[in-house]
Amino acid sequence: MKNPVLTIVVPCYNEEDVLPKTILQLSSFLREIKEEGLISNKSKILFVDDGSKDETWKIIYKKSLHDENIRGLKLSRNVGHQNALLAGLAAAREASDCVISIDADLQDDITVIREFILKFQEGCEIVYGVRRKRDSDTFFKRSTAQGFYMLMKKMGVNLVYNHADFRLMSKRALHELQHFEEVNMFLRGIVPLIGFKSTNVYYDRKERLAGETKYPFKKMLAFSFEGITSFSVTPIRFVMLAGVLSFFISLLFGAYFLGLKFFGKTEIGWTSLIISIWLIGGLQLIAIGLVGEYIGKIYKESKRRPKYIIDIDTFNMPMPRHIIN
Ligand code: UDP
Ligand code: MG
Repeated sequence: MKNPVLTIVVPCYNEEDVLPKTILQLSSFLREIKEEGLISNKSKILFVDDGSKDETWKIIYKKSLHDENIRGLKLSRNVGHQNALLAGLAAAREASDCVISIDADLQDDITVIREFILKFQEGCEIVYGVRRKRDSDTFFKRSTAQGFYMLMKKMGVNLVYNHADFRLMSKRALHELQHFEEVNMFLRGIVPLIGFKSTNVYYDRKERLAGETKYPFKKMLAFSFEGITSFSVTPIRFVMLAGVLSFFISLLFGAYFLGLKFFGKTEIGWTSLIISIWLIGGLQLIAIGLVGEYIGKIYKESKRRPKYIIDIDTFNMPMPRHIIN
């Protein structure tokens, strides 16, 4: 396909520090590749404001009034990175031949977008941006990420290694994405399940341009846990296994102490008793907690609540020039 219509979707949450720079860089890059004839003149950048509490929406909206390349989608409240991204992808889908998602902090190298488009023109429906090395991340973030990938792999989930949410998807792939209806959407796990022809493009990831990460350790941990329990029931099997194991161990213990009682010294301390009570108790609590986690997931899914609610959409709607607040 020559000159595809491209939409770049950028989820933003409290990004007022970095957004003006991001808008400038992305917009001039888009203009550049339009002039090169790589993409259609109808291509745009769609900034999704994920219920920010700062000036994020105001910045997006004002820019969209003056720059043909810029459009905004305002969500009614904060729904998290993945859902904000989904909102943007869904809004952009019909008007675009392909959509690229990228974070607002421009840690990802926008110049590889050229390569994304070339791969798309060669027939790839999904192009994953993959970080070559992670020098800009702290050692801690690097190693926890490594652990996460290993764990996911062990559990049979196929993730593209060192790929975050910087990727291109064709209109066809986006249509298929729509059919994944789960409420807990972990896109990095879902997108490979679409299965269309895909490829990787490598780049170096930079530091955040400005502002702070919205994924401190606690959130990363929650995110990984979501990822794991959304895709795999292996943890429950581990707990089952541990339960069975501890059952047999306690049988052995029992036999040993009974043996002592009848054939040896009868004085049996309470140490063994207390240990086994704590051991079994602990295992049971873990098991119940884990089962509860899955039941909670079923509960959430069964409600089928909307993942996001759109407040203002200047991408698909005529611009409501009156509302700025
Ligand atoms: N983000 C969002 N909603 C949230 C949290 C984050 O839309 O609730 C956006 C954020 O503005 C950024 C992207 O998701 O564009 C990734 O966040 P961040 O760069 O803080 O994560 P990191 O790269 O540090 O993992
Ligand atoms: Mg970032």
